Amino acid sequence: MPNWTNRPTEQHRHPHIQLLRTPPAKILVGIVLSHDLIGCETHFYRNRTTPCAAPNCPACDSQYPTRWHAWLAAWNQKHNAIYIFEMTAAVSEPFVDYHNHYGTLHGAMFKAWRPSRTPNGRVNVEISPADLAGITLPPAPDLPSQLSHIWSIPNHDIQQSRLPGGNGELRTVLKDVLRTQNPTLRHQTRQNMP
Ligand SMILES: [Zn+2]
Repeated sequence: MPNWTNRPTEQHRHPHIQLLRTPPAKILVGIVLSHDLIGCETHFYRNRTTPCAAPNCPACDSQYPTRWHAWLAAWNQKHNAIYIFEMTAAVSEPFVDYHNHYGTLHGAMFKAWRPSRTPNGRVNVEISPADLAGITLPPAPDLPSQLSHIWSIPNHDIQQSRLPGGNGELRTVLKDVLRTQNPTLRHQTRQNMP
């Protein structure tokens, strides 16, 4: 029997939501929709970041190291695009500081970029309260649900979606969300890459 529902389930409400890391050569901008970060231990396993499933974790069994990652939902106002921003523990520090100061991340405007313009270079973050006059922020997507959906997609399917001539979603959204400019530095964090 089907499990009938009257409304789309959470994973189908934002079918095109993308997971973005800080890119090498562009500035990632957004207004935070989440109240706080969510994070967990992860492995870089089989060519992608996946959550550690200890105590029943194939990556742990194969001695892969763990790294803590955190995520938040963000909105690019210019392109009306919702995305998930993935960060390391080091990059999370200015977000934690902001949350400690303001009590929530919701409504914070941030920019993240890599001054070295290399894929794994140190990430700088600037974060400050957004001017929300006349702006209604979209509701935050449910991150655990979205991330579970993303992680349950077989790697083969993810690679297909990244290929030009595939559905092109990732390329399109990346282009829309990123833009180049030189903001004033407010926070500098060091991202410890392997
Ligand atoms: Zn594990």
